[in-house]
Amino acid sequence: MRALLRFAEGPLRGPGRVPDPRLVRAKERLDRLDWWPRPVRIGRVRIVVTPLLFRLRPWRRFDGFATHLVIFLRHAGVGDDLITHELCHVWQMQHRPITMPLSYLRTGYDRSPYERQARSAARLGSGTAGA
Ligand SMILES: [Zn+2]
Repeated sequence: MRALLRFAEGPLRGPGRVPDPRLVRAKERLDRLDWWPRPVRIGRVRIVVTPLLFRLRPWRRFDGFATHLVIFLRHAGVGDDLITHELCHVWQMQHRPITMPLSYLRTGYDRSPYERQARSAARLGSGTAGA
């Protein structure tokens, strides 16, 4: 299992923990949006690169996957747009921790309003909006 989970540098918690710069950049993009009452919190969020996860059938078509506290990536070289997309899902779950994940059972992935919002977040912050 250790081989599956390669954690980012730095201690897991405590005052010495430095936020992952990729998360900081994504948060800066999301902070420009007022879609949820409170800004996204990244203090406990981790990025984990785990290529093997994305070989499994449910995740084969994705390059990233977010849970409440962890953003899983297929590889470390993904761009800021994907990090912003996944952090938007974390933001959604910080406001709707149960409703948001369960909504996928009702809508599926492609019709999910949460997916639409996360795609918009990545697009709006990239500087290519309207292009
Ligand atoms: Zn998504």
